[in-house]
Amino acid sequence: MVDLKTQYDHIKTEVDLAIQNVINSTAFINGPEVKSFQAELEQYLGVKHVIPCANGTDALQIAMMALGLKPGDEVITADFTYVATAEVIALLGLKPVLVDVHPETFDIDLKAIEKAITPHTKAIVPVHLFGQCADMQGLLNLAKKHKLFIIEDTAQAFGAEYTLGDGTRHKAGTMGTMGTTSFFPSKNLGCYGDGGAIYTNDDQLAQKIKMISNHGQSVQYVHDSIGVNSRLDSIQAAILRVKLKHLDQYAAARQKVATYYDAAFAGHAKIRIPKRMPNSTHVFHQYTLRLVQGDRTKLREFLSSRDIPAMIYYPIPLHLQKAFQDPRYKAGDFPITEELCASVISLPMHTEMDPETLKYIADTVLEYLN
Ligand SMILES: *Cc1c(COP(=O)(O)O)cnc(C)c1O
Repeated sequence: MVDLKTQYDHIKTEVDLAIQNVINSTAFINGPEVKSFQAELEQYLGVKHVIPCANGTDALQIAMMALGLKPGDEVITADFTYVATAEVIALLGLKPVLVDVHPETFDIDLKAIEKAITPHTKAIVPVHLFGQCADMQGLLNLAKKHKLFIIEDTAQAFGAEYTLGDGTRHKAGTMGTMGTTSFFPSKNLGCYGDGGAIYTNDDQLAQKIKMISNHGQSVQYVHDSIGVNSRLDSIQAAILRVKLKHLDQYAAARQKVATYYDAAFAGHAKIRIPKRMPNSTHVFHQYTLRLVQGDRTKLREFLSSRDIPAMIYYPIPLHLQKAFQDPRYKAGDFPITEELCASVISLPMHTEMDPETLKYIADTVLEYLN
């Protein structure tokens, strides 16, 4: 699905030097590399504060903790997402309220959110799934009207750009109250281990986030709130600084792969290509097709027999997972998510795809379908 080895080979000299410098400095925790990465990320994203942390799940949890919500407060998120998004809501004793998604973009559905809002709703967590921003202008309008916080889960859309109604362009994660991301190795900006970050333009929230991620500490050994220990280590920051310089080129490589797949599959009776929205760029964390006719398991087996990996993101809707069992939800409640879970298939997508491999993958999919 990804080719991190070839990607590394192309930047090996830079990366090896960066890692060796950290080891020589022995500043493994909160070293200068972390501060430089933070500043470079703030500049890249055009956001006032970036607070690095240990992973994307922690980023979501810390962001949610910084809002100071009370047990039972409702947080709306998509039923069709990676589990982390809803998990942290439940973990903090808040109430996850799941809603359906748009069938062609896979992103959270605005009308569904509107229906789910109650007097207890405090926040919305849109997930920019597979690399394209959710309807942020619509979400911001809704949040303003109902006085809700927005935490953008940007783990799959790092670097995507959205154009608001006033024509201004913003990086994913910088439009809501806060944005969170993950630097898991296979994400669009990935390190060589775990990493994550939270972003915000709000000075007070930034202070809180810093404090929470460092044991609730305001001054050394003075603890104002219950926090967590969540840090990005210096070696990962040094690697990320190297990769950030290549990120736009990486995004272009992914978009080229997607354009090829689109052209190969557009209009085919048995599949639907992912829809691109005019107001968001798509950084294609995943290239995800819907198989509207035919047997997905057999397609996957056929691809596998030709040495082509394919993945199902995601096979089970959150509301049908044992962990999220709730008398509020039953099969049939979120028909679009349920249909997507039964029909989506993601093809190999990465920054190092050569034209022959790409053609081989597309031809093999078509050979099976025709
Ligand atoms: C990867 C991912 C996360 C979690 O990130 P980790 O760094 O693995 O904790 C959260 N949300 C979404 C949508 C993701 O894809």
